[in-house]
Amino acid sequence: MKTPKVTLTVKVLLGMALGIAVGLGINLSGLNDAGSWIQTYVVNGAFHIIGVMFVKALKMLVVPLVFFSLIGGVCGIGNIRALGRVGIKSFALYMLTTAIAIAIAISIATLANIGTNIEQSTNSSFSAKEAPPLSEVFINIIPSNPIQAMANGDMLPVIFFSILVGISMLMVGKKARSFIEGVEVANEIMMQMVNIIMAVAPYAVFALIAKAVANLGLDLLSELAGYVLVLVAALMLHLFVTLMLILKLFSGLSPLIFLRKIRNAQVFAFSTASSNATIPVTLRTVTQRMGANNSVASFTVPFGATINMDGTAIMQGVATVFIANIYQVELGMTGYLTVILMSVLASIGTAGVPGVGLIMLSMVFAQVGLPVEGIGLILGVDRLMDMIRTAVNISGDAVVTSIVAKSEGEIDLDIYRDPKAGTLDTEKVIHAVLD
Ligand code: ASP
Repeated sequence: MKTPKVTLTVKVLLGMALGIAVGLGINLSGLNDAGSWIQTYVVNGAFHIIGVMFVKALKMLVVPLVFFSLIGGVCGIGNIRALGRVGIKSFALYMLTTAIAIAIAISIATLANIGTNIEQSTNSSFSAKEAPPLSEVFINIIPSNPIQAMANGDMLPVIFFSILVGISMLMVGKKARSFIEGVEVANEIMMQMVNIIMAVAPYAVFALIAKAVANLGLDLLSELAGYVLVLVAALMLHLFVTLMLILKLFSGLSPLIFLRKIRNAQVFAFSTASSNATIPVTLRTVTQRMGANNSVASFTVPFGATINMDGTAIMQGVATVFIANIYQVELGMTGYLTVILMSVLASIGTAGVPGVGLIMLSMVFAQVGLPVEGIGLILGVDRLMDMIRTAVNISGDAVVTSIVAKSEGEIDLDIYRDPKAGTLDTEKVIHAVLD
């Protein structure tokens, strides 16, 4: 008898649910106490090893995947004017969604009046890492050594170099054709690698989430309940209402289909807390599940992972109001406008990796005169908040990709509407690898 196929999404969601359950169980039962064997061998042992290996495997794919798919994308678009259009449209939409996100966050947090009943604690220590100044950001778009930029995983210079290679290949014309074909094959090979790694994702997602929840527990959440609740509400509002309205308004595409198809990528973002590490999955989702052409997606997805962080901007808005209330600093309209501007600018210069939101926040605080050590107060819950906001970040990337692809006539609507399109049969992949 044939058993019904369980899709990857279901398996990944199961992994996540099981991870939360096991993590909570370990945490609440006190099995995770310092020095216990569960902590040493299970949480910081097996879970840690599996999780880190998986995230490294994803990161391993990012640079070669972006490099080949972007060159292929540029050659696919075929003319530099269209490329410029895609660049300008996606940049404008990324900035717009980020600005809306932070405005929503500040409004909700101000209405909820969070932080007013909290005593300012004295042991909140946080030393901020420097965020790069904006001038550096522009200068660093051009790599003095592309190999080094690739080795460091710096996305903007890698994007710049890849686009230039693509444009030059177009200009060389006929003679470069075999090279272009080679790049297309390389791109397909990289996508196969994504499939292989995704086949083990449910187990890795379980390990990553079980470890995070076992270490975090629930205690911290209740201490900062106001902050957490308002932040999560603002994130959800942005994801389910603002972004979906923008998607519908600008492209006419169905938000329900979008939300169903983006789920997998969201779980990856949630478990890794890194938009960058999720690039392979986001790219696969928008091209194979939603039908966006690689010529658009290969540019907008890595670009978005670097410059577009709606969820992170929301965290900054909520955190600013929270800390300003605790320290009783009156920010005023100018202060809040500065926060909006700074957050949008800060998101351009910082890569989508875990915890980077805090670095951006310290930049914002310094600008509006809030005490940077105030960040210490929210540090405890930041990992969990990071996971949630990263899922919102990559959803924004996928929304903008779909809108730009639709406006360029580069989306296959049959694929977008087909619920089965691009689903992965993990068993088939595993057998194909093993046979
Ligand atoms: N982890 C986030 C991302 O990769 C950035 C942050 O908010 O810290 O998108």
